Amino acid sequence: MADIVICEFMDEAIAREVLKAYELLYDPSLVDDRAALLRSLGDARAVIVRNRTQVDAEFLENAPKLEAVGRLGVGLDNIDLELCRAGNVAVYPATGANDLAVAEYAISAALSLLRGTWQASPDVIGGKWPRGANIGREASGRRFGLIGFGSIARQVGRRAAALGMQVSAYDPYLPGDNGAWSDVEAVSLRQLAETSDVVSVHVPLTKETRNIVDADFIGRMKNDAILINTARGGVVDEQALTAALRAGQLGGAALDVFASEPVDAEGGRAFVDVPNLMLTPHIAGITEESNVRVSQLTAENVARHLAN
Ligand code: NAD
Repeated sequence: MADIVICEFMDEAIAREVLKAYELLYDPSLVDDRAALLRSLGDARAVIVRNRTQVDAEFLENAPKLEAVGRLGVGLDNIDLELCRAGNVAVYPATGANDLAVAEYAISAALSLLRGTWQASPDVIGGKWPRGANIGREASGRRFGLIGFGSIARQVGRRAAALGMQVSAYDPYLPGDNGAWSDVEAVSLRQLAETSDVVSVHVPLTKETRNIVDADFIGRMKNDAILINTARGGVVDEQALTAALRAGQLGGAALDVFASEPVDAEGGRAFVDVPNLMLTPHIAGITEESNVRVSQLTAENVARHLAN
């Protein structure tokens, strides 16, 4: 039985190097075989997970020796933090290690959707030469609104400002005297909906943020505005969003995260033929570079914990 169980993918070579003092079970397929995963936990002093492993009461009951959970990312909504605290199990998110990947995704989605030309290939291939239909918009001079103004949102804001955009943010938990506000306008959620050309969501999923982008919020957005969600599926009402896109009440949207993940063929039907909608499989935070940073930081966090 292993001291450390890694049940979702990471940079295996880094894990083996940093954690070489311990018996390691590296099996990213375990996340899809819950029974085998639970059976593997008997001696585990640490586990390393991404966002798909539910670290809940059942998981913890099967891991009586567990001391630490390394999370290959930052959202902790798949981990029962109260139970971990009660059981003296430390939880280590990879804070900051994938900020750049998410920020570049958000900016690239904003530029693609404002410009609109990413959908032109079939027409060009078909000999239609659709120049008139592909006159897109520039980012410069437009307003970028951030819901949540934490670590990732600040990286997004900096890049949006570099493109010549005005940046505003809604984050009632960030004190007004925080230096991060120096170049960014603090606005209410309603103001943000009504004034932004691009809205990008960067809040954790909590009771309060569930459906923070609901039908009312979307209804207040400009008809040609763009919505980007790289946070968590539950924070955007997917039905309200697809209805608005179908009705032409919104300029476009990019969804990297979904209320139910992974999206299966049946779940995917909700998005068929929805115009100006880009979908990706929860990959905003994962690039070749961020996978290395996240793996290194998480392995080091776990190694440090076990050594103490
Ligand atoms: P962070 O903790 O640095 O920032 C979150 C911000 O949200 C904080 O400033 C907080 O004050 C604010 N906030 C909390 N509740 C709020 C509310 N009700 N209204 C407005 N603001 C509120 O987190 P981060 O590192 O910037 O990450 C944000 C989220 O992005 C994570 O929780 C995670 O779910 C998601 N994420 C997704 C991916 C991906 O691959 N798609 C990768 C990394 C992170």
